[in-house]
Amino acid sequence: MLHYQDVPKDGKMCSDCAAYTPPASPGADTGTCKVVTGPVNPNGWCMAYSHR
Ligand code: SF4
Repeated sequence: MLHYQDVPKDGKMCSDCAAYTPPASPGADTGTCKVVTGPVNPNGWCMAYSHR
């Protein structure tokens, strides 16, 4: 359990994480992640955060 949340944690967020892949289409508001399944919010965070 990586405790994913859709808000940042201590200034850290998915959009700055090495595991994050931005949305394929410009209009989409969620991307994907190598470790968390399903849509991931760029402003989200989880315990596997790794700064890129
Ligand atoms: S590992 Fe966690 S912090 Fe990094 S992109 Fe995936 S959900 Fe976001």
